[in-house]
Order: sequence, then structure tokens, then C-alpha cells
Amino acid sequence: MSGIREECGIFGIRTAEKKPLAHLAAAGLTALQHRGQEAAGIAVNEDRNIRYHKGLGLVHEVFSDERLDALGGGTIAVGHVRYSTSGANTAANAQPMVVRHVKGQLAVCHNGNLTNSYELRRQLELNGCIFHTTSDTEVISYLITRKRLETDSIEEAVRLALQEIRGAFSLILMSPAKLIACRDRYGIRPLCLGETAEGDTVLASESCALDAVGAKLIRELDPGEMVVVEGTGIRSLRCFPAHGREALCVFEYIYFARPDSVIRGQSVHEARKQAGAYLAMDHPVSADVVIGVPDSGLDAAVGFAEASGIPYGIGLIKNKYIGRTFIAPTQDARDHMVRLKLNAVASAVRDRRVVLIDDSIVRGTTSSYIVSLIREAGAREVHLRISSPPFLHPCYYGTDVDSSKSLIACGHSVEDVARMTGADSLAFLSVERARSLCPGVGENTYCAACFDGDYPEKPPEVAEKDRFETTWS
Ligand code: SF4
Repeated sequence: MSGIREECGIFGIRTAEKKPLAHLAAAGLTALQHRGQEAAGIAVNEDRNIRYHKGLGLVHEVFSDERLDALGGGTIAVGHVRYSTSGANTAANAQPMVVRHVKGQLAVCHNGNLTNSYELRRQLELNGCIFHTTSDTEVISYLITRKRLETDSIEEAVRLALQEIRGAFSLILMSPAKLIACRDRYGIRPLCLGETAEGDTVLASESCALDAVGAKLIRELDPGEMVVVEGTGIRSLRCFPAHGREALCVFEYIYFARPDSVIRGQSVHEARKQAGAYLAMDHPVSADVVIGVPDSGLDAAVGFAEASGIPYGIGLIKNKYIGRTFIAPTQDARDHMVRLKLNAVASAVRDRRVVLIDDSIVRGTTSSYIVSLIREAGAREVHLRISSPPFLHPCYYGTDVDSSKSLIACGHSVEDVARMTGADSLAFLSVERARSLCPGVGENTYCAACFDGDYPEKPPEVAEKDRFETTWS
């Protein structure tokens, strides 16, 4: 409900024996569906031939059982769920991006946004390259393919290509013989490695996708690391020299990741509860009930209730059957959509002072609607507590907030935002608290740029989501 959109989810599996991998990939992608609901795709490698299918929609809409059967068995598979943070929501931009070249085929799955893709693509086009999509991922595919023609191995081609790109990327790639995964210099987007009881290797954006295919989490990839899975062996290489700064997106803990995932050894559910507990400690309020905005405000609401001693209640119900993230063209249509998606439980809030916990405020329109919903249901007071700091800066690394124009906290004080949302009081989690949601991990190992403006990678000169939709001037 927050108004900020997830980025993408990626999945890969390598087995020693041929298996119906399309079905396993679909299971993994379904577990990652929260990261992208616009498009889904799976590519399967059988005896060095890559078959693939992709399309617009949720995983179960794109892949019927018959479609998965038709992809058949293989020893490597990769998959992707997409939300379009760069390039339009079209079937052409769905992934995996599969390319053919004189040394074979390559399937590429990408999570994150590049910060120099505009310049790279322009240079490639001026040199005669023809692009079929408007997504960053085709730039990556082009660069790797070019390097592959000059090198002896796919991993060396990937390593050389990655030297040219900047920004946020977690990648899972499939060549005729290898499954390869890598993370950008700072490790902005997550990527983890697991293993099944049969010894199959699994790679995924989040550990919940490992659980979905019966794999155990082994570890996360390090920033700048490349993992190459060939046969049953796994090699770890470095794409970039170690440089001492990590910058995992702190918003993964607050909103993007699924609560049952584990990142850096910390349960996302526990991190969100901790955020709620910090809010109760730092911004206490006298109230009768604590309620959370489904889904990602619920864990923090439990944490707030436990730390404050105020009873937890179910005060809002989300209609699960609306499903697909809705891109409404007008504010009226968006308001209507929120009304369909969410309703108040009047008996839980009537005549009560309510603490309302949400994960973030982006434009403020959803928050003001939810506050009014609680009031109309009879609440006496509504105290809004937000389990993230105020969004003050755009994100260039794989979310859809690419301009500060849409951020209500930008140019308004907390008191102003409270008034605009209609809340009796409003408070946010501090940046320092957000950086300490994972115990034992250094506070300076996160990206929190949308909150504090400290960008690990230089922001792009051209950032608009539709930057490849227009012709060059
Ligand atoms: S700018 Fe914000 S949303 Fe974007 S990667 Fe950094 S912490 Fe995450």
C-alpha cells in the first residue's frame, strides 16, 4: 500500500541430473512475486539449448502447467519477475533476456537499475547496435555478448562487461554450460545462494524462494562477487576489487523483502518488529490500540505493541483478491483502488485512540485516505507512526521513485505532513535506527540514500523511467 514499488526478483537453479526445472523455477518465482507483478519469464537449458517463455502478468498467469511442461526438463534454469523501474511495461521488456551469438546462447536476469545505461546505450547505438527493448538489461546483455566474442570464457566476458556498468545490479545468467550470479560493487540489491538435499544449487533474490524449492540458505553473495556453477562445482570469483564499502538497500528490511526471508542473518520479520519497537521507544503516545497497514506495516505494529504495552488489533483488512499491483492513471482512480483494496474493522477502532503503523509515506495520498478510513470507522484519535525515515531523495537503484517531485516529505515539515494526512500526530523512524535493524552489522554498510542523500553510486544524469522510450536528440 505504500506507493513505492518493488523492483524485480531473480531465480536460478543448477542440477546434476536432468529435472523438470521449469516447475521448480515457477515455484521460486511465485515466492518472489512480491518483488514484481508486471511480467514473468523462465528459461530452461537442456543439453546446451535454451528454451524460454515470458509474458505480462503474474507467474501463474504467464505459466500454466501445460506451458511449464512444454519448457521441459534440463540441468539449468533461470527466471525473473518484473516490475518496470526502467523501461516500459511491455512484453518485449520481460526477462530473462535471451540472446544468441556465435559462441552460443545467453539468458540474463537482472534486478536493479544501472546509473550509466543511458550513456552506454547511446554509445552502442552510435556504433550500430540495434536494441529491441527499452530496458537496462539489454545494455548488459549486449556488453557481455561483445566481450564473449573476445574472451575464452563466459565468466571472463561477464567480468569485463561489468567493469563498464555502474549502479545497482544483482544478476543471474545462464550460458550453455554454466549458471552465473553476481552482485554490484556495493551489493545494493540482495542475492543469496542455497542448496537442496539432493545437492542442487539454487540462487535467488531472497531466501523465501530457496524455501519454496526445498533449498537451505548457504550464504549471501558478497558485494562485487561472482559465483560460477558448473556441473556440481561452485567457484567464487571477484568482479571488482574489494573497496571497503557495502551498501545493501536498507529498505529491503522495511518494505521490499518478504517477512519470512533472512538477510544478513537477520529475519526480515524480526527487523520490522524492531523498527516498531524503536518507534514506540522514540515516539511514544497514549493510545488504546495499535494497528498496522497490511501487509508490510503489520510486523512493525506487533513490535510497537509489544514495546509499548498497548494492545495490538486487526483494524484494517486488505482484499487479497485484487492481486495485481494497479497502475491507475488518475488520482481519482488511485483513490478508488485503495478503497477497494482496504477497509477498516470498525469494532477494532471505534471510540479508540489508534496508533496506525505504516511502512512509508511517499506521496501522502494513500496515508491520508487510510487515516480518514480509520476516522470514519469511529476512531477518536489517529497517531501515525512510520517504520522508515521520511523519503527526501529519489532512488536510482531499482525503485520507481526517480524524482523528488512526488515525495511529500520533500519540502514539508513533519508537522505539515501530519496536517496533510489528517493524523493527530506523526513520527518517523530515524535514519540511525533504520541502519541498526540488523544487529552485528555495521551501520555504514547500508544504502539509505533516499533518506539521507548519501548515494553510494553517483546518480545518473538521465534518470527518468522512460528514458529509452524517447528518441535521441
Ligand atoms: S535509495 Fe533508498 S530505496 Fe533506493 S537502494 Fe538506496 S535505500 Fe534502497
